[in-house]
Amino acid sequence: MSGTKDAETLFTASCQCGSVRFTGTELPRTLTQCHCRTCCKISGVPCTWASAKISALKFTHQDTLVEYHSSDIAKRGHCSRCGSVIFMQYHFRLPNDTDFPVGIIDEDSVKGSLPSLTSHIYCAEASKPRWDSIPEDGLKRWDTMPPEFLKDADRWRSEQASSAGP
Ligand SMILES: [Zn+2]
Ligand SMILES: [Zn+2]
Repeated sequence: MSGTKDAETLFTASCQCGSVRFTGTELPRTLTQCHCRTCCKISGVPCTWASAKISALKFTHQDTLVEYHSSDIAKRGHCSRCGSVIFMQYHFRLPNDTDFPVGIIDEDSVKGSLPSLTSHIYCAEASKPRWDSIPEDGLKRWDTMPPEFLKDADRWRSEQASSAGP
């Protein structure tokens, strides 16, 4: 019966040198362009993130995948051989959700279609580099993150603080 079959692979993704690869059984539903300084440092430009359920992704090659804690609330993964950005994960959204740069999707592998850009985050002048001028494309823009997300981050931070003890 189809219920016991593995879910179909709908896309593959890989770093530039091919040492890190994963497959996905769900296509991303949103693409969020982040203008924050950390993304600009790490990617060289604003990074367009695809959201995914971790359970829908499966690494097939990951020997050169390394993690880096870019802030108190997030860690990022990249290939130690070619430098490609592989993922971004917020501690308070684990073990469920991850983001990965849409640019690492192998386009010819996609079954179906990828969404267009959905929104911009970290758009406030104080949040992004001065050289980054965001086009007037009519998409949703947030000064930093959506309020829901900020609330979750604050709750996580206070839980961390209280569990550390006196
Ligand atoms: Zn690589
Ligand atoms: Zn960012």
